[in-house]
Amino acid sequence: MSSDLRSSIRSIPDYPKPGIVFRDITTLLGDARAFRRAIDELVQPWAGTKVDKVAGIEARGFILGGAVAHQLSAGFVPIRKKGKLPHATVSIAYSLEYGIDEMEMHEDAVAPGERVILVDDLIATGGTATAAVALLKRIGAEVEAACFVIDLPDLGGARKIRDLGVPVRTLMEFA
Ligand code: 5GP
Repeated sequence: MSSDLRSSIRSIPDYPKPGIVFRDITTLLGDARAFRRAIDELVQPWAGTKVDKVAGIEARGFILGGAVAHQLSAGFVPIRKKGKLPHATVSIAYSLEYGIDEMEMHEDAVAPGERVILVDDLIATGGTATAAVALLKRIGAEVEAACFVIDLPDLGGARKIRDLGVPVRTLMEFA
């Protein structure tokens, strides 16, 4: 990982609450060189391979996932918070730090057997990505990999996804 990519992330102490350091990727997105480099590095293992769909998790996963899909000549599939998608959906409940949330995707967004790469900006506990992988598998997707710009390894999320048999690509870690 290049040091300029890491330095393009802004760290915000005490956001969204005291004691949390939020890793802000808007500064990476706003830096043309860093944005291009992040997308190039994320897709590098799949260059020249057949990927049918890229699934992005709302909302930052849409920005990165759209660019990744374009780069791989794949379709894009939004995984959204409950109630946002207009057509018939499949949904899954998952635990947040406080309470339960639900994510959805269109039931026909991926055909059985299609090869899908999941994209989000950051993996922490892995709860969000675990739910997204389960949703994709439920409609018959072959989840080839999950990609994140940032891994918070102390929270163990990337390990959880690998334990599901899904390879994980991340570009940098913050302890
Ligand atoms: P997890 O479910 O792995 O615990 O949390 C990951 C989800 O929370 C991702 O969708 C990610 O966008 C969001 N998230 C949690 N902490 C941060 C952070 O510090 N920075 C950013 N950019 N996203 C975060």
